Amino acid sequence: MKWHTHKLAGVALAIGLGSSPLELVSILAGAVLPDVLDYTIAAGSPELFARLHRGATHWFGWWLLATIAGVTSVLPMPFDGIVFGLGVGGVSHCLLDALTNSGVPLVLGRRYPRLKARLFNTGSLGELVFASAILGIGYLHQQTVLSYGYQAFTWFKCARLSPYSLGALCF
Ligand SMILES: [Zn+2]
Repeated sequence: MKWHTHKLAGVALAIGLGSSPLELVSILAGAVLPDVLDYTIAAGSPELFARLHRGATHWFGWWLLATIAGVTSVLPMPFDGIVFGLGVGGVSHCLLDALTNSGVPLVLGRRYPRLKARLFNTGSLGELVFASAILGIGYLHQQTVLSYGYQAFTWFKCARLSPYSLGALCF
């Protein structure tokens, strides 16, 4: 996936989750971080980049762990929100790359088997249509939240608070 698609997905997620500005920035950073890490590790070598791209950095497990760590109050504020955002962004990056023909690794440390839905090629018109659709879904979800007071992701916020303050936010 192109970076603009990953960033659009990050914005859609942040809108849908009703994220704070700090979480929005963290989600956006996480949404491109797997590729940034690949570029950084390759240090300008196209051969090395081709070998390692969509390898260990694109294993969804890392990002899922970060999301869980951000949700479960093991980190002090505001680091919980930052780690949560990076995790959610990273998971979205892996999921989006898994929709393409190249896919992402299923098992850490192995290139195969790979998760790949083969919906479209990176940079294709299909990717642009998909990116527009997910932004629209994020917007519609937010509109639903505003119109009906329905917050599908309230549990995210509730779960991230200590038991003492849980009630204050949920009710
Ligand atoms: Zn990627």
